[in-house]
Amino acid sequence: MSEKLERFREYLNQMEQYKQIMAQLEWDMQTQTPKKGYDYKIDAITYFSGERFRIATSEETGKLFEEMEAPEEYEALDDAMKLTVRRGKRDYDRNKRVPADFYEEMVRASNVSGKAWEEAKQKSDYGLFCPHLQKMIDYTRRYVAYMEPDKEVYDTLLDMYEEGMDSAVIDRLFLQMKEELVPLFRKIMEKPEPDNGCFAGDYDINRQKELQAYLLSYIGFDKEAGVTGESEHPFTMEFGPGDVRVTNHFDRHDAVNAMFSAIHEGGHAIFEQGINPAYVKTAAVDIGMAVHESQSRFYENILGRNINFWKPVYDKVGEYLPQFRDIPLDTFYREINHVRPSFIRTAADELTYCFHIILRYELEKAIFRDGVNAEELPGLWNDKMEELLGIRPQNDAEGILQDMHWSDGSFGYFPTYLLGTIFDGMFLETMEQELGSVDTLLSDGRIGEITGWLHEKIHKHGGMRTAAETIREVCGQEMTAEPIIRYFKKKYTAIYGL
Ligand code: ZN
Repeated sequence: MSEKLERFREYLNQMEQYKQIMAQLEWDMQTQTPKKGYDYKIDAITYFSGERFRIATSEETGKLFEEMEAPEEYEALDDAMKLTVRRGKRDYDRNKRVPADFYEEMVRASNVSGKAWEEAKQKSDYGLFCPHLQKMIDYTRRYVAYMEPDKEVYDTLLDMYEEGMDSAVIDRLFLQMKEELVPLFRKIMEKPEPDNGCFAGDYDINRQKELQAYLLSYIGFDKEAGVTGESEHPFTMEFGPGDVRVTNHFDRHDAVNAMFSAIHEGGHAIFEQGINPAYVKTAAVDIGMAVHESQSRFYENILGRNINFWKPVYDKVGEYLPQFRDIPLDTFYREINHVRPSFIRTAADELTYCFHIILRYELEKAIFRDGVNAEELPGLWNDKMEELLGIRPQNDAEGILQDMHWSDGSFGYFPTYLLGTIFDGMFLETMEQELGSVDTLLSDGRIGEITGWLHEKIHKHGGMRTAAETIREVCGQEMTAEPIIRYFKKKYTAIYGL
């Protein structure tokens, strides 16, 4: 190893140690920290992230990147290190263009905004949040303009969550979805609703946790490389491929929701656990959010909402939660695919979920392209809700205040959820060409073969490829929404007898 490469690796190791400690603090805060301890924890996280940022933007670090970019060093690197140098240099340059005092101001404003959002949501009073949201829009605009002065603001935002993604691609895909799926949804709405009265009940939380552990193992989550915890909102956090943690939120009165959250987060975790261990401490462990969501949503929806997934395990569900012994599998299947208009994204079924994302995407474009301001947003939100789902929120808590993403400036994140679903349609078709019917694999309990395929084609590559490259290499074609539209049509035609 050259002396320069050695220095660079030392730097990467240092960054990794900061990442570890911050992940530890974050995990602790989300799962363990008592309410009165929050401020201490936030202090610590702020301290370490500040230190990390300071090192990452120092002159010394800039020199390291320059050295590594020189052809005699760069050409000798393996692919993961080349990526690390390329992305690292890009981020270094971007961060250097952001004035430090502006950055601090923005971080502080986003903390204040997050608190204002919480209160506004509790009181269902958008007025409390509106000025903060406007500030976050303005800060975001400036922040991105510093980082990429020559690029369009919203496209830069999209690119930050999924490299290479832009609104031209998303426009094409989402329009296709809207044109085909809105009429499908309307047809379903003409059909009678399934009766879900039998799901009401009291489900022991410990038994739900045992069922979660069973389901996670069943889909391929490696318990020796991960643990489970509890938090207000389920999430996945990785400390490295040997330590990937998932959380869930349990409700005594609803066991189904937690089952699907477990499978969703399990999908994220299996991806992280499957990354080639040689990529540790390189940029190749940073996976784009759309590809990440494609995996969690593949497990949750494509597999988990398929009746065949449950055939080998439904008896087990009844063992853990005896109430399910009296619910026929078919009734369960209808309920987990119960399409209905609802206000809250996170509670939406697989089909209407798409509309919730399209709505947010269109509003983000309106903000950053058309200059729509925060005051106009609730009205626009409600109009779009009516246009897509035929319902109008009665208050802001069930409308524009429901998600936290915008409160801290995470604009451009929402589309990744639906892109993930669109990719899933493509992965499913390719998988069936190569492995045969997924229905058969699932009903035979051969889910390991599915996970094995995903591992080979996607998981082990981690973040080495962009979404477009992944799709091209796995499916041999460009991104298209047609497969997922075919999937939805076939599925709901059968369930609802359309
Ligand atoms: Zn997710």
